[in-house]
Amino acid sequence: MSYDTQPAASHFVAGGYVEDTAGAEIEVIHPATGAVIARLHEATDRIVELAMVSALEAQEVWAAMTGAERGRVLRRAADLIRERNRALSELETMDTGKPLQETLVADAASGADALEYFGGLAGTLTGEHIQLGGNWAYTRREPLGLCVGIGAWNYPTQIACWKAAPALACGNAMIFKPSESTPLCALKVAEILVEAGAPAGLFNVVQGRAEVGSALVTDPRVAKVSLTGSVPTGRRVYAAAAAGIKSVTMELGGKSPLIVFEDADVEDAVGGAILGNFYSSGQICSNGTRVFVQKGLRDRFLRRLAERLEGVVMGDPMDEAVNFGPLVSAAQRDKVMGYIRTGLGEGARLVCGGEAVPGGGYFVQPTVFADVTDGMVIARDEIFGPVMAVLDFEHEDEVVRRANATEFGLSAGVFTRDLARAHRVIGNLHAGTCFINSYNDAPVEMPFGGMKMSGVGRENARAAIDHYSQLKSVFVRMGAVEAPY
Ligand code: NAD
Repeated sequence: MSYDTQPAASHFVAGGYVEDTAGAEIEVIHPATGAVIARLHEATDRIVELAMVSALEAQEVWAAMTGAERGRVLRRAADLIRERNRALSELETMDTGKPLQETLVADAASGADALEYFGGLAGTLTGEHIQLGGNWAYTRREPLGLCVGIGAWNYPTQIACWKAAPALACGNAMIFKPSESTPLCALKVAEILVEAGAPAGLFNVVQGRAEVGSALVTDPRVAKVSLTGSVPTGRRVYAAAAAGIKSVTMELGGKSPLIVFEDADVEDAVGGAILGNFYSSGQICSNGTRVFVQKGLRDRFLRRLAERLEGVVMGDPMDEAVNFGPLVSAAQRDKVMGYIRTGLGEGARLVCGGEAVPGGGYFVQPTVFADVTDGMVIARDEIFGPVMAVLDFEHEDEVVRRANATEFGLSAGVFTRDLARAHRVIGNLHAGTCFINSYNDAPVEMPFGGMKMSGVGRENARAAIDHYSQLKSVFVRMGAVEAPY
């Protein structure tokens, strides 16, 4: 099977596709060519209202089911996603420009993992019993109600599933707004959930830009907002949610340190730096874009990095031999090229790359800067493109202090053969998701999320359950009530 890039309608609400052409147009562009592959419309107030009402109705039905029944639906959806992995991956590649070689293993597959994992957990969610002498108390783990999910453009299917799976497992409904740059695959997740047995309206997808997102976040019927996006957007969405005292999960940006000590296996460290900078053309929030290399290893590290980057195959992302795709949009390419010019202007040494590739697509070569210093803009800002900054260091204390000198705290990595040092350094780094002798692994069983400006809350693992449910405490008196009067 394969999917048309033009969906039947822009939104998936109340169990089916719905359209309202009064909404502003969204052109969906294939980033490798610049061709328009679909035309959608932003959600109007009418569509948002339909999504709200149907989600609230579905949530009541869903929350009344047992956890095992809910879990069965989620696991069936996981199976359907795996069966359709190729079609979903092809659509994701058309939408995002990421190589099919990547999307076949990292996008729908990761979404299916989340649905399977939280489907398994759904039947295990319990409160606790607390004995208080003759009296006792118990807690009930209850859903929050209606949750809103808002996605970024780099991992559309994965983000939709990472939010939907724990939300639905806990008995909530969700309205999901994909990024306006990559709106296609969340619609397929919604279709599949209905096919798997979810009540109509339980997972609605509405399209739109910031204004639609804002309408969802500020609606008083919404109990929780989960955003994946940049720090500036996070600030706005968090503030809007705070006005309604809504619970939030914020998965935001990063400028994460990857520290390579002299005793590291150089091939592994170079491999980690490649994965942590150039996978998905660098459009990954957790990327280790500040690569601190201890002085004695620096030249060897850079030489092997440049040699291995000769293995990059850039081209049509639908060709499975291609391993490096374009950026998502012309705007993102221009932003990344601006940072490359800034890096050159700041005096960083260009080791390789540095050019945009002429033609209709939004390709930028994998780019490595060496001799980067902490104050440079390219060492401070999240670029969200294929630009690696290599910085030198001498001592462990020094590198830990410099690695922590950022407002971000999403991820961090250490390469060393000295395991005591590895754990000590990781213990001292202010980051939520860390790696030792590896980079960017994101198994569903491991909590994912950031510290400091990089976020609030955790996705994946049991930790996510806390962020999609609330506890009700119940005190039970077994004897007479003693009142003073
Ligand atoms: P973005 O912040 O521009 O947009 C994210 C989403 O928020 C989009 O759907 C957008 O329409 C919506 N939005 C924008 N303004 C809004 C508002 N006022 N109210 C409600 N919704 C609003 O991010 P992007 O450019 O799509 O994605 C890139 C960013 O996302 C990077 O900073 C990256 O690090 C981050 N990211 C984080 C994670 C993570 O898990 N921590 C994962 C992927 C991407």
